[in-house]
Amino acid sequence: MKFVYDFTEGNKDLKDLLGGKGANLAEMTNLGLPVPPGFTITTEACKVYLDSGEEPTALRDEVSAHLDALEQRMGKKLGQSDDPLLVSVRSGAKFSMPGMMDTVLNIGLSDKSVQGLAKQAGDDRFAWDSYRRLIQMFGKTVLGVDGELFEDALDKAKEAKKVTVDTELDAADLKKLVTRFKKIVKTEAGRDFPQDPREQMDLAIKAVFDSWNGERAKLYRRQERIPHDLGTAVNVCSMVFGNLGPDSGTGVAFTRDPASGHQGVYGDYLQNAQGEDVVAGIRNTVPLAELEQIDKQSYDQLMQIMETLENHYKDLCDIEFTIERGKLWMLQTRVGKRTAGAAFRIATQLVDQGLIDEAEALQRVSGAQLAQLMFPRFDEDAKVAQVGRGIAASPGAAVGKAVFDSYTAVKWSRSGEKVILVRRETNPDDLDGMIAAEGILTSRGGKTSHAAVVARGMGKTCVCGAEELEVDTKRRRMTVPGGHVVEEGDVISIDGSSGKVYLGEVPVVPSPVVEYFEGRMHPGADDADELVEAVHRMMAFADRKRRLRVRANADNAEDALRARRFGAQGIGLCRTEHMFLGDRREMVERLILADTETEREESLKQLLPLQKRDFVELFEAMDGLPVTVRLLDPPLHEFLPDITELSVRVALAESRQEPHENELRLLQAVHRLHEQNPMLGLRGVRLGLVVPGLFTMQVRAIAEAAAERKAAKGDPRAEIMIPLVGTVQELEIVREEADQVIAEVEAATGTRLKLAIGTMIELPRAALTAGQIAEAAQFFSFGTNDLTQTVWGFSRDDVEASFFTAYLEKGIFGVSPFETIDRDGVGSLVKLAAEAGRATRPDLKLGVCGEHGGDPESVHFFHEVGLDYVSCSPFRIPVARLEAGRAAV
Ligand code: ADP
Ligand code: MG
Ligand code: MG
Repeated sequence: MKFVYDFTEGNKDLKDLLGGKGANLAEMTNLGLPVPPGFTITTEACKVYLDSGEEPTALRDEVSAHLDALEQRMGKKLGQSDDPLLVSVRSGAKFSMPGMMDTVLNIGLSDKSVQGLAKQAGDDRFAWDSYRRLIQMFGKTVLGVDGELFEDALDKAKEAKKVTVDTELDAADLKKLVTRFKKIVKTEAGRDFPQDPREQMDLAIKAVFDSWNGERAKLYRRQERIPHDLGTAVNVCSMVFGNLGPDSGTGVAFTRDPASGHQGVYGDYLQNAQGEDVVAGIRNTVPLAELEQIDKQSYDQLMQIMETLENHYKDLCDIEFTIERGKLWMLQTRVGKRTAGAAFRIATQLVDQGLIDEAEALQRVSGAQLAQLMFPRFDEDAKVAQVGRGIAASPGAAVGKAVFDSYTAVKWSRSGEKVILVRRETNPDDLDGMIAAEGILTSRGGKTSHAAVVARGMGKTCVCGAEELEVDTKRRRMTVPGGHVVEEGDVISIDGSSGKVYLGEVPVVPSPVVEYFEGRMHPGADDADELVEAVHRMMAFADRKRRLRVRANADNAEDALRARRFGAQGIGLCRTEHMFLGDRREMVERLILADTETEREESLKQLLPLQKRDFVELFEAMDGLPVTVRLLDPPLHEFLPDITELSVRVALAESRQEPHENELRLLQAVHRLHEQNPMLGLRGVRLGLVVPGLFTMQVRAIAEAAAERKAAKGDPRAEIMIPLVGTVQELEIVREEADQVIAEVEAATGTRLKLAIGTMIELPRAALTAGQIAEAAQFFSFGTNDLTQTVWGFSRDDVEASFFTAYLEKGIFGVSPFETIDRDGVGSLVKLAAEAGRATRPDLKLGVCGEHGGDPESVHFFHEVGLDYVSCSPFRIPVARLEAGRAAV
């Protein structure tokens, strides 16, 4: 196995092996772009190291060989005392991951070679600045020394000299700082800073490997559902220097605006600086456009390279570059993160530019991004005091109590509070606080700062660099212009689309994307924004590609109409239990309590016309489209009063010697119907079988409603669905009764109704005997909520509160199986049942109506196993349409 690749040997498609950074450094090298030479140690090497606890000997040898080659090429040796080759050691996993070890720059400097570097560069200050940076980075990331100790020492040095920025420290100051830093290392790490350059490099490589299993990295992987066994690559890259004076510098750039998608010059540049300075907010950066004045030649070359990259990757790229005494070097590129809105806009723009086709465009967006665009926004007319404005780093409207550290953010959000994490700037230690918060506000840093990049990745609202806010994390408060103080716990609102910060709670308004789906905003109209236009086009791409149909879960005409506007092609689940609540509860109560057949029939007769009305309205709203009506599903006691409350009432009446016959009877019924485990009790088809007349009343209501719609020249397409069937016998009995009722209605009204009768598949036994069940069912609808409960044997209503957090933390599953279908378990039953059902009845219609029907990943699964449709709540329909389209390309 080959463990090390020169930059000239790899390419962008080798991300699994070389990590994202390494693969793209190789790609740029092979495109002929100016990349400092170097090599990449593979993820395979990392895995071997992590498994065995030591570096394989073959790895050591290969690194030596590649280092030799690099030294030959550069004409100097690593750490050579008169003219040292210096390198950076950079982590780089397949997916970019905060929490991985930070890069160590300037490896190869020592007490001796720092002199050589000074002489070669003709710049003492530069050499000592580079050395102090090495000790600082190495101490912190490799030796685990608290980084603040170095920061404090640096601050002290600046204070002593009465200067504010690091560039004002001279060689002598920096030399003293190096001595101080070395002492810190010695005290804190219990060892000297290593003087041997190869030892520095090897320790740094190992530290990168180890950081794969650091707590922050693990947390991030769980959050982003990145597998834990990928490992990270390590890049060793010869150094170029942006800290060699005013004709040097370092910067970051995007080929387009990652917030809007617009083409232009977006980025930040910092003169006389190295590495992270530009994103760390140490000094104020200048907009990239100003580089044109500073160094026109490098600027022009950079613009050209950006164009090359965008055409090559056919996508928005972000880049890191350094200018060393007027010479431009590319240090990183990757397909850049972007906001949800920009993703839609860029995808359609690239189609228009002829760079990608519709199918590829669909791969560039996601249902999760669409869902994000459907969130409400702040009401711009609201009269709430704006107290500041920062950079719109990640869109959304977030309201919450201000907290000033990660710990409090997590604690408060656990107890149900909405919080906004306010920091001067964030770093990887803030990750769990960022996850817990509704939004993130920082007073420093630009669009490429840690807060901005991470928030965008998480789809979280973020405003950064709001400089007029004075954030005091130690005293847990922030002072806004005018002197008002926001204390921990005060409510603030932040708008990640405009960058505005408000005191108090700002009311929110619907998003333009929802307005579009609702038919209140039309693409092409003057007031429609570009985003609506882009969403409209992407939805059309998806609708053209998809095979899955999308239906809605809706119980009333209002929801049905909305669903239709959102593009639903029918109703996949109408729950009739909601029709039994409200004023009708009493009738249901009477039905349950009925002692005699006549009493029961009386209450059924009362319910019939009401049910029929519901269905007429629903069929009318969904005219011409299928409507699947599920017969009553929940346990009966849900329609009766609460047992404790009722007992109290009875006891009270007794003590007051008031009449309480009815209450007593009710109480007895509640006791009779009480179940230890109602989820596995008398519900679904079982109810239909033990409460005579209940299901037939519902079937009659459906049939009569359909007949009425037909008479009104409508086109009702009702489907009757029997819940919780475990065996074909249950279905046969219900079906026989239903067929008879339908025949009666047809005869009485003189119409042919063509009502389909089918069943839910939501018990393991039903899935396992689906071949038999299909003999009595014209369609299956997978109830994946109940199927998940019964396959796993855990109750959806209880698990979230009890042990799911622990399960998620331990990585037993990356996401709740109630949210995303468990492919291996529940999924294989779905697949099995679909195949067995179709074997019995080739034209069996197959759908799904659990929560999973609107979950992006699950939609892909349902496409793969060949279902005909998914059904989900009205608001998730656009997401399901988009994902169904994405699944089909
Ligand atoms: P990250 O993954 O956090 O971006 P990088 O490995 O890209 O970490 O490095 C951190 C910073 O150091 C970046 O600004 C990068 O451009 C800079 N850097 C890395 N390697 C070199 C090098 N060989 N010469 C100069 N600057 C470098
Ligand atoms: Mg980088
Ligand atoms: Mg169910």
